[in-house]
Amino acid sequence: MSIETPISGMVKRYLTQVKEMYGDNLFFEDTGISFAIQSSFNTSLTEFEKAINKCQKCPLGETRNKFVFGVGDPSAKLVFIGEAPGRDEDRLGEPFVGRAGKLLDKILSAINMTREEVYICNILKCRPPDNRTPQCEEIETCLPYLETQLKIINPKLIVALGATAAHTLLSIKTSLGSLRSKIWKWRDIDLIVTYHPAALLRNPNFKRPAWEDFQWIQSIISRN
Ligand code: SF4
Repeated sequence: MSIETPISGMVKRYLTQVKEMYGDNLFFEDTGISFAIQSSFNTSLTEFEKAINKCQKCPLGETRNKFVFGVGDPSAKLVFIGEAPGRDEDRLGEPFVGRAGKLLDKILSAINMTREEVYICNILKCRPPDNRTPQCEEIETCLPYLETQLKIINPKLIVALGATAAHTLLSIKTSLGSLRSKIWKWRDIDLIVTYHPAALLRNPNFKRPAWEDFQWIQSIISRN
């Protein structure tokens, strides 16, 4: 569930620029979905979710049970991005609530954070059938929604969880291992790459390097 907080100066500046460029409405081509940018700047992630949560822009809109937008602090310093909703997420409408999500909660707790203090979402808002890997067309179609979320939140650090998120946000197709331990940029925001918690459940050998990554994440956030 998204939590409303006073909109930050950074978001106001972003929305002012958007208004100057596009007028009072953000329009997503081919969807018929427009997102009103209100003159009072009461625009929030909640309003954005309301504007897009009936999306049928790709075939996953027909097969999903629940649209899975994202959860956490709408002005979080730290945003985690996974691949797509799974079975539990599709049932409950919230990201990272299954086994992998419980593991993410434990890891966050180990670095003295909670899911309420960060923001958690996925590349796709709807579950691919049988949890198959998202297709390029689905990613391309859905990505503008995530980009808008990130622009509104404007975090200090993005963490790409797993190869799909990393390859999408960095436009680089290389092994996850070679993407770790570096600071990348998504637009002007720092981005680091680590294993998806589901990969840690499948392969315990990833747990040690993932733990090192999360300690690094904690040190970066504590400096900001
Ligand atoms: S996955 Fe994204 S683009 Fe496809 S229907 Fe869901 S919200 Fe729309």
